[in-house]
Amino acid sequence: MNDDMGYSQCIRKTEGSERGVFHFYESVPMEEKMIFIGCHLSVTDGYEAMGKRMTRFGGNTFAWFTRNPRGGKTRAVDPEDIDALRMHLQKDGFGPLVAHGSYTMNLCSAKEETRANGLDMLRQDLERMELLPGNYYNFHPGSHTGQGIEAGITQIADALNLVITPDLHTTVLLETMAGKGSEIGGTFEELREIIDRAVHPEKIGVCLDTCHVWDGGYDLVGDPDGVLQHFDTVIGLERLKAVHFNDSKNGCGSRKDRHEKLGLGCIGMDAMKRIALHPVLQNLPFILETPNEDEGYIREIHTVLEWQQ
Ligand code: FE
Ligand code: FE
Ligand code: ZN
Repeated sequence: MNDDMGYSQCIRKTEGSERGVFHFYESVPMEEKMIFIGCHLSVTDGYEAMGKRMTRFGGNTFAWFTRNPRGGKTRAVDPEDIDALRMHLQKDGFGPLVAHGSYTMNLCSAKEETRANGLDMLRQDLERMELLPGNYYNFHPGSHTGQGIEAGITQIADALNLVITPDLHTTVLLETMAGKGSEIGGTFEELREIIDRAVHPEKIGVCLDTCHVWDGGYDLVGDPDGVLQHFDTVIGLERLKAVHFNDSKNGCGSRKDRHEKLGLGCIGMDAMKRIALHPVLQNLPFILETPNEDEGYIREIHTVLEWQQ
């Protein structure tokens, strides 16, 4: 259990929870209510090893950092290893995978060198993703580091337009952010603006991080329908391709971005369960980014699988 300190930080807004039972509810038959579930894995032992590991964990999707999240270097890829992973994914009925770009990649830094570096990383990552066609590449839109939101959005869109081609076999996902510091993507409107400026918007989607949107001020506890309806109005649910499934150590609107284990944070188990079973989120890959070791991830994966029974 979380400590009392953690809980006292939680401000739960419950107003409006009865609102907004929208039409999607009836449109998804009960037996089709199923998400893909997995967690972040290390690529250290190669690609096929990640697939086999996730099967052992009981899951059917996963995420990995395309390069060292801090350092930025990549390893050479063994095509046979990639083929073996592709066979494994097919054999075990995996959902789409959700690769994660480096935290050091900032496409809208005030420093030109950082932006140029970010663009290089993005280009190389997407080239590599072509070895695993049909999956997702998620990244943090960036931090404008003082340039202002408008300038940041323009730089992110410009960078995407330089590397996203019509023949790309990957959908690039913008992650919803908590809005800490000068982060872009703390509101659905900011993500929408980036997509609006894309030359190939059909190659761009969104990954909803439950901890981040909650910290950003979207009330997933009191009014999950309202949050998803707002997402639909601003961005469009057809662009929602993946979920980062995390509880939060802090209250709604805290803008902190500290993930918590499922049920031990301010979102809480009831709300997490409602999100996992929400009709408009079915068939999406859900990635756990909770502070866990292997056993914790295995437990959380099985919790979600039990909800689906
Ligand atoms: Fe992320
Ligand atoms: Fe995330
Ligand atoms: Zn986070």
